[in-house]
Amino acid sequence: FAKEKGKNQIQWFNQEISDKVERRLMLEQGLRKALLQEEFVLYYQPIVNVVTKRIVGTEALIRWKHAAGLISPLEFIQIAEELGHIVQIGEWVLRTACIQNKMWQGLARESLFVSVNLSVRQLEQDGFVESLQAILEETELDPRYLHVEITESAAIKNIHQALTVLQTLSSLGVSISIDDFGTGYSSLSYLEKLPIHTLKIDQMFIRSNQMAIIKAIIAMANSLNLCVIAEGVETKEQLRRIRDIGCSDMQGYWFSEPVQPQIIESFLLDTDLWSRFLEKA
Ligand code: C2E
Ligand code: MG
Ligand code: MG
Ligand code: MG
Repeated sequence: FAKEKGKNQIQWFNQEISDKVERRLMLEQGLRKALLQEEFVLYYQPIVNVVTKRIVGTEALIRWKHAAGLISPLEFIQIAEELGHIVQIGEWVLRTACIQNKMWQGLARESLFVSVNLSVRQLEQDGFVESLQAILEETELDPRYLHVEITESAAIKNIHQALTVLQTLSSLGVSISIDDFGTGYSSLSYLEKLPIHTLKIDQMFIRSNQMAIIKAIIAMANSLNLCVIAEGVETKEQLRRIRDIGCSDMQGYWFSEPVQPQIIESFLLDTDLWSRFLEKA
């Protein structure tokens, strides 16, 4: 009987592994055609200033509309990086976000920036700067409304190369944000070497209420003349605490999850919706 049971466990275990392998294969195969078949979509999450009570920008976040359901970037971005698809996908993300934001410039009373996540593979790619420049020209988006987000590890992986690329982006007028700041275990000296505009405090610090660290990041940002955005604000209480220590720009489920562009658009077109939304700030 024990033997039987053991055997079942092994079968069950194998089943789990083979499900994972199958899913991985499905993603790998699907990723090859996903761009051509226009299966990617961008969602946008508002970034809110709780002092001026305004939406200042949005972060563009990719999703994959697959026959098996909407797939999260947490599941496929790394695979796309490993398979080398990320450069083309990233270019699509940049172009789509710029076109979208340019269109919103015409609707909103105030201009929003759009913040786009970059993979380190894009930074390392020859011709990346040229391709970004071409997208800006083609979409006629004023570069100051484009922010790019990179992680600390991407910034310092090859600091010399990053420096050249980021300096060029910066001289074009594009703003550079450090995403998930505080979790990269890297030396802080890169903050003075690279042309960085904004630190995005990792949502982990907010979730676990590590106020001393959040305070220190805000103080450091202030003394380096950098902007700060707190990520992952989920409650009014968190909003208050973070606001009261001097950080006014935030994003998180408290305000809104990432939503389809039509939702952002309906807010831009409807003043009542817009001001009711901002009551949350
Ligand atoms: P990220 O850039 O740090 O984006 C923030 C993530 O936190 C998003 O997850 C967002 O939906 C989620 N989030 C926002 N507010 C809250 C909150 O209040 N609570 C919680 N629990 N989560 C919140 P998402 O969309 O699943 O994206 C995950 C990661 O995938 C992103 O993290 C980013 O690193 C990567 N990613 C997304 N889009 C792209 C892209 O276009 N290109 C690249 N290279 N990476 C992307
Ligand atoms: Mg991000
Ligand atoms: Mg982040
Ligand atoms: Mg993250």
